[in-house]
Amino acid sequence: MRAVIKEEAGEGYVMREHVTTPEPEGDEVLIRVERVSICGSDIALYKWNEVARVIATVPFIPGHEAVGTVVKCGPQAALTIGQQIGVENHFYCGKCYCCEHERGDICQNMGQYGHGKKTTHGGFSQYSVLSSKYCFPLTRNITLDEAVLLEPCGVAHNAIEQLEIQGEDVLIIGCGPIGLLGCAVSKAMGARRVISADIDQSRLDLSKTMGSDLVVNTSREDLKEVIMRETQQNGIGRICEMSGAASMVNNMFSLLRKGGHVVMVGLPKTPLHVENPLPDIVFKSLTLKTVHGRRIFHTWLECERLIAEKKIDVLPVISHQLSMTQWETAFEALFSGSACKIILNPMK
Ligand SMILES: [Zn+2]
Ligand SMILES: [Zn+2]
Repeated sequence: MRAVIKEEAGEGYVMREHVTTPEPEGDEVLIRVERVSICGSDIALYKWNEVARVIATVPFIPGHEAVGTVVKCGPQAALTIGQQIGVENHFYCGKCYCCEHERGDICQNMGQYGHGKKTTHGGFSQYSVLSSKYCFPLTRNITLDEAVLLEPCGVAHNAIEQLEIQGEDVLIIGCGPIGLLGCAVSKAMGARRVISADIDQSRLDLSKTMGSDLVVNTSREDLKEVIMRETQQNGIGRICEMSGAASMVNNMFSLLRKGGHVVMVGLPKTPLHVENPLPDIVFKSLTLKTVHGRRIFHTWLECERLIAEKKIDVLPVISHQLSMTQWETAFEALFSGSACKIILNPMK
């Protein structure tokens, strides 16, 4: 089979044509990968930055946002041939404190599919093998392109659900694919108004398509000024931090209304620093939450339902649909900033 592989430490991936197709054992299934979308961490792993070096062990197959069809089952697999599935890439251990308390999403011994963490398998391949317990069986009437976005949409859903946004104004900082999906999810969950902030005007335009009511280009406008004006100087009730830009994270607390809620999703790469911790944090009596990934499988069920019932449209975030053989073109488009979400088809 064909696969894109991270063969050694250092920058880059390589495509190989004659990789041995794995055999499912125990409770594993072999899937034909129908679609795989490219995520920010696939870029980190490509570039082999510090984050990647901590997570991954080479060699491995990257790509973790995958949907596939079961084509072969191990003897104890709890799925049948022909079933379409989404891959939950947080491979929880089932034994640690978090797993024993129904929080496998933040397992303390987590393996990560497509990240070279406790598994060499990933979605940038024509076939892939994984335990059936990490498979989300697709049962609603949604397309494969929608299904492959269940994974990133699930991150947005998990974050927005933590905010309790019913009837509230929400500020979404950062309009990458997860931020954009967060706009749609916020509206579907009953936010009063969604305000999105980014430095890229084309992303802000896209956020309007996804349901944002007001966009703020932070390269031209003062975000605090806009937020205070829009909230009668009260500050915003809900903030979802999706940018990971340390400067945005550091300043966001000053935008928050007293008693407000914040959820952090973006990944800051440098230490954080809040200038006025008493007025901006402690005396605000705020609620700060963070999320890593999706609730398994609550988030998947909810996102699949929202898409099937046409409560959200995830497709506008897709900028490119390519064959996996065009993986280099895909990464170039991402590096140049001209792409949003790219979907690869490994079978083409
Ligand atoms: Zn991802
Ligand atoms: Zn665990």
